[in-house]
Formats: sequence, structure tokens, C-alpha cells
Amino acid sequence: MTQTQTVMHGILLRAARHARRSQSVLLTSAAGLLAAVSLSGQTWLWHGHADLGVNYQNGVWELHIHHGSLGKFEPEEVVLSVDVIAASNTVPTGAVWSFLGSAGSPVWILPQNHDPNLLFLGLGAEELGTGVFTGDQVMLTLESVQGPGQFALYETDPFGTPQLFMNSGDGVDGNDRIPLTAGQHRHAHWAFTAPGSYQLSFVASGTLAAGGGFLASAPVAFRFEVAPVPEPGLAALLSVGAALWFWLRNRAAAGPDNGRCLGTQGSVTRLHPIQSAGIQIGPRPTCMEGPL
Ligand SMILES: [Zn+2]
Repeated sequence: MTQTQTVMHGILLRAARHARRSQSVLLTSAAGLLAAVSLSGQTWLWHGHADLGVNYQNGVWELHIHHGSLGKFEPEEVVLSVDVIAASNTVPTGAVWSFLGSAGSPVWILPQNHDPNLLFLGLGAEELGTGVFTGDQVMLTLESVQGPGQFALYETDPFGTPQLFMNSGDGVDGNDRIPLTAGQHRHAHWAFTAPGSYQLSFVASGTLAAGGGFLASAPVAFRFEVAPVPEPGLAALLSVGAALWFWLRNRAAAGPDNGRCLGTQGSVTRLHPIQSAGIQIGPRPTCMEGPL
């Protein structure tokens, strides 16, 4: 096998093992595309608009994922999926791109602009009230990267020039960060230099207005997978179980407050390993305000 074939073979084997381990699978379809699959209690988001959200409320930081059609997920509930085919790119020539590796090297990117074949992932503080932090600004700082390659977060201007915010290729320190503004959100390129499973941990921070001092959250981990999308045939077979899972989850979460936000969830330091016991359908300990 060539090196590329070997890598792909490993990915496919791993995906197959995931599928065998799971007892239930969730599938939804948006605009004809597979949007998400749930394996072993985590929902893999493949398509649609999602944002990594930062909020601070009642003295508690909350980091989460909002998906435009699927709603809100706690960090440990979700896998941010990077289609290993659709996201495949090569590093352009030019010194400004050297942070991604040498020109021509493979790189997998969730892009800043919407590509309907990929998850459209942004970052935001839309729920954060104005006047809470100085300048209405909070910072999301990369704490650590675990995975088979490097990770970089950057935006490109209208001329295509990158502005780099985070890059594990030169180590991870306090300079690997992106500012977020209360009430707003932004989109960036999420780049990975090798296929496989990544755990990115972030810390949110800000200076409270009115002399309240500097505050930082505990590190919060998010799982990214640069992997193949499940084949449509497999997805179709599993769709019935998926619909049932969604119905059960929504029914459990609705509760007597009829979907109102029931409170924040602490500083979200939990990071559960992939659960092998299958889908959890109990009450969902999540703030259930509406979708994006
Ligand atoms: Zn967005």
C-alpha cells in the first residue's frame, strides 16, 4: 500500500470499530446531506452551520456547541467532524502559509466560508450580555492539542491573506487565542495536518467591567475527527434508530418548563471518554434555550 492508502485504511478500520461499538446510531438529514450521526452517546456533526459558543452567566463560564438545526450540545456530547475527502487540501506556496507546513503538504480544513459539503464551524459569544466584560470582549485561548497532527485556526482577508490566531505547530502558549465580542460571532478556518482524532482544549477569559478583575474558565475539551463520512447505505439503515433517539432525547429534555433555559452548567470541565454503553436517553443536563 502507498502511504496514503495505509492512512485511509487505518481510518476506515477505526470508523468500522466505532460503528461496531455503538448500540444505537443517530442520523439526520439536512438539504439532502447527512448532517449528524450519533455513536456511543456522542453526536458527530458533519454538515450545517455550527458555532463554538462562549458564555458567562451567574458567575459561571459555559462553552458549548450550537448547531443551526440540531440545537445545543455540551462539549462532551459532540464530535466536530471533518470529512477527510471534502476537507482535503494542500498547503499553498508562499511564506505566509508555512505555518501549515511545507508547500504541497496535505492539510484538512473546515473553511471560514460555507462549503455545503463540510461543517461550517464558527466561534461566538452571542449569548454573552454586553457590559459584562471590559470592551465587551472575551478571549478563547488554546490550552492544548492532542492528536496525530498540528492544528491551526486562522482567518483570511478578502485578498486571501491569512491572519493566524492559533497554531500548535510552533507550540501552544498564551498567544494562541482569538478574541470574541459579546453578542457577535465570527468564522475562521480550522486546519489539521493529519487525519485522525484530535482533542482541542480551550480556556475562555475576560476582564470583568467595573473593576471586577480577570476571570478564566477551566479548560474545556472538544473532540474533532478528521475521518470519512459514513456511507449513505449505512446511514439509511440506521435512520430509524436515529429518529427514535432524537424523539426520546427531546422528550426527556422538554420538561415542565417547556424548553426554557433551566440554568447554566458550571465551568464545563467534564470530558467523558467515549462511552461504550450506547446512547443515553435520560434527562439531558443542558440549558435548552432555542437554537441559533
Ligand atoms: Zn457561525
